[in-house]
Amino acid sequence: MEQTARPKLIDENGRRLDGRGPTDLRPLRIEVSVLEKSDGSAYVELGKTKVFAAVYGPKEAHPKHLSLPDRAILNCRYHMTSFSTDERKTLGMTRREVELSKVIREALESVVFLEEFPRSAIDVFIEVVQADGGTRTAGLTAASLALADAGIPMRELIAAVAVGKVDGRIVLDLSDVEDKYGEADMPVGIAPRSNTIVLLQLNGKMTKDEFRQGLMLAQMGIQKIYQAQCEALRKKYESSMREA
Ligand code: ADP
Repeated sequence: MEQTARPKLIDENGRRLDGRGPTDLRPLRIEVSVLEKSDGSAYVELGKTKVFAAVYGPKEAHPKHLSLPDRAILNCRYHMTSFSTDERKTLGMTRREVELSKVIREALESVVFLEEFPRSAIDVFIEVVQADGGTRTAGLTAASLALADAGIPMRELIAAVAVGKVDGRIVLDLSDVEDKYGEADMPVGIAPRSNTIVLLQLNGKMTKDEFRQGLMLAQMGIQKIYQAQCEALRKKYESSMREA
């Protein structure tokens, strides 16, 4: 089998391929209410990773027999568009997308007051329009904002980012190439107000110390993302108050 040479991901000055230092996030852009037809929506961009989230509901659950008498069901679909990756992604849901939909749903369930909407359903759609690493975490960040934008009562928001080990260094916010050729990739989702971990996965190997360092770095990055989330919501409410 043909072997591709592993690229050097961090240079002698500690700079990553895109010029970032180990603890830098990619340029971040967060907006809410970006789609007109859904009840709530958000857009999250981290460098070249671009993700939309849309929320419908709470509405009557279909089929009815799946509804719950004491709370709403939360449906979540994480999906990558065919044009989001270098090689055209197959149409339809892959096993990876089914798994990511589940872990993102479980994270969201931990913050939404589902018990306020018995027999209803809340649908969350995440569409990755361009993938350059960290799509599940950008998707979770966007989904929690879209829920807030839809006015669904939540304990708090969720912000998420991946950390990992690249050329022996612990780094924040892995790009696709760092994810592919690095030694480890650890997506982390946190509800920042209570500092609760709501998503944690680890692909690859890290020592205990590296894990701790990675988690601290993720918390730092998440604080920045959380501030941008709050800013996006504030902007929306300021402009709707001006219009009123
Ligand atoms: P995440 O996007 O959350 O980091 P992965 O670690 O599974 O999730 O994927 C890393 C990157 O690999 C993605 O962001 C994307 O750029 C690429 N990738 C994932 N799935 C596919 C696919 N089916 N086809 C092509 N590229 C993919």
